Amino acid sequence: MHVDVIRSGDAVPKEGQLLSTYIVNERIAIDAGVLGTMVPSDAQDRVSDIFLSHCHMDHVTSLPFFLEQRDPNNGTVPTIYAHESCIDALKKFFFNDLIWPDLVRIHQEENIQFCQFEQLGVESPVSCHDVQVTPVQLSHTVPTYGFLLSDSTSVVGFVSDTEYSTSWMETLNRLPRLDCLFLECTFPNRLKWLAEKAKHMTPQDIERFARDWQGAMPRVIINHTKPSLLEEVRDELQTALGDTIEMVATGRQYVIE
Ligand SMILES: [Zn+2]
Ligand SMILES: [Zn+2]
Repeated sequence: MHVDVIRSGDAVPKEGQLLSTYIVNERIAIDAGVLGTMVPSDAQDRVSDIFLSHCHMDHVTSLPFFLEQRDPNNGTVPTIYAHESCIDALKKFFFNDLIWPDLVRIHQEENIQFCQFEQLGVESPVSCHDVQVTPVQLSHTVPTYGFLLSDSTSVVGFVSDTEYSTSWMETLNRLPRLDCLFLECTFPNRLKWLAEKAKHMTPQDIERFARDWQGAMPRVIINHTKPSLLEEVRDELQTALGDTIEMVATGRQYVIE
C-alpha cells in the first residue's frame, strides 16, 4: 500500500502536522485538511473517495477548494464518507450559503453535482479501488472514526484524533494482521490536562499502548503532533520507547508491504 502524507504548509516543519491529509494508492484520501491546497491538481483529480475521520477544521478545511478545483470533465463525482454527525456539521456550518455555497441546494436547482455524501457505520467496511476501508470508533470530543485499510499487500491503520481507549485498543488487538499504524500523539506529558480536555494522547498514552499491545508490534508512525511541541513530544517518546516508534515525515510516500 502506498501512503502519501501531505505536508501541512510552508510554516510547518516536515515532522509536524497542523492539518491532516493522507492519500492511499493515489485514489483514496483520509481527511481533507490540505487535500485541496497542498496536493498538485493532477493528483487531486485522481482522488475520488474521501474518508473523513471527524468534522474538526484541521481534517476538513480544504474540502471546498478540492471540490472547486476539480476538473468538471473528470467524469467522476467524488464521494465523501463520514459519520452522520460529521456530514450534518459540514452541511450546517460549512456548506451553508454563508461560509461557503450550499452544494446540495445548487445540485437540486442546477443539476450540477459537486460531491456525494455517504454515512459510515462502525466496523462496516466499504470497498473502493481494491481497498477495504473499515471505520473504527475512537474517543474524541466529537464522533470520530479511525480507519483500517487493507489491500492485497498490507493492512494499515489510522488512529487520530482520540484519547487512549481500551475500546479501539481491543479492536486493534483482535486484528489478524496489522502492518503499520499511524497513531496520534498530540501533546507532551506536561500538557496531560489539555490532552484530557481535548481528548488527545501524550507520550504516556503511547507507552500504555505499547504495554497493552499483544503480539508483535506493527510499525508505529506517530502523527498529529502540534508543530510547536514537536521536539518535546519526540524527546519524551524517544526516552520512553527508543527506536520502536518513529515520527511521521510529511511530504513523504510510505510504501507498506
Ligand atoms: Zn479533532
Ligand atoms: Zn485534529
